[in-house]
Amino acid sequence: MKTNKRIVRIADLKIGGKNPIIVQSMTKVPTTRIEKVLSQIKRMANAGCEMVRLAVLNRDDAAAIKKIKKASPIPVIADIHFDYRLALQAIDNGADKVRINPGNIGEEWKIAEIIKKAKNNGIPIRIGVNSGSLPKKITRNTQHPDASEIVTAVQDALDIFLKNRFKDMVISAKGSDVIETIEAYKKIDEEFDYPLHVGITEAGLPFRGAIRSAVGIGHLLHQGIGNTIRVSLTGDPVLEVVAAFEILQSLKLRKHGPVMISCPTCGRCQVNLEKIAGKVEDRLAKYKQFMKVAVMGCVVNGPGEARYADFGMACGKGIGMIFAKGKELRRVKENVLVDSLFEVIDADINNR
Ligand code: SF4
Repeated sequence: MKTNKRIVRIADLKIGGKNPIIVQSMTKVPTTRIEKVLSQIKRMANAGCEMVRLAVLNRDDAAAIKKIKKASPIPVIADIHFDYRLALQAIDNGADKVRINPGNIGEEWKIAEIIKKAKNNGIPIRIGVNSGSLPKKITRNTQHPDASEIVTAVQDALDIFLKNRFKDMVISAKGSDVIETIEAYKKIDEEFDYPLHVGITEAGLPFRGAIRSAVGIGHLLHQGIGNTIRVSLTGDPVLEVVAAFEILQSLKLRKHGPVMISCPTCGRCQVNLEKIAGKVEDRLAKYKQFMKVAVMGCVVNGPGEARYADFGMACGKGIGMIFAKGKELRRVKENVLVDSLFEVIDADINNR
């Protein structure tokens, strides 16, 4: 990281500086369907989501923010495009932060109105530049915006905010192209000291989208770039949260719930390891404690990995060994392997 990032507060959360990287996501039902929105937010928060963004398309959405904000367990961000008045209304209704894309809000005075309202209410603004909606004057001669055009759009937006004496900002500059996005964030990180919201936009369906996000976000985070992340997937937002923490845990940037490793299996495996690993993963989803659990198919690498983990199993022909804290504890039949592993995990947790 080339610059020390400022610290921005969103309700009780702090983003930037040496604070942990915050995981956020977005609800995927109309904001006016308040019960559904809250149920989605609660599921997301339960998975670890730390702030949630809601699409505000019209005055009814902006009005709904009031009730949602009161019942939400995590800070609420209003996502506004095109109509600056919706941002003003969302702030009046208690939004903890607004995200705007200055490129599609339009005239400078409209952005200035949002800034004035945010300043009066003590909330930050995310400048969310997106490669799909750069101002025409920047992309006039190119079909596909490149990193330098994305950075120019950020600079132009920042100029307006600074002219209005506002520094309580988070910046994002997402593109759907992983390489361009990485390049844009690197340039922005070098030039500005505002905290960065990092993500690959429109990443895709969960399997490929999580991979593309892991490559882009993971690359940046490993270089110290990024203060809050969103994994954008076409699917349940809970999956976005799970994927985000998997990226953070892989890079040892956050500890959040169990980490499971399992071997890919090969011709040596003599149990149905895919089924066993699936059951272990499902059951682990209910645990909040950080622990490493290894599910291994045979004695080649199995006992070693199972010993290095907090808990593990190494399978043989129709049987398996259960390990905890580096020691083999028992040998059991395949059909009770999973139950046996969890007896050991639960006993350990209860003795803490
Ligand atoms: S642990 Fe055993 S079964 Fe699993 S991939 Fe390695 S050799 Fe194959």
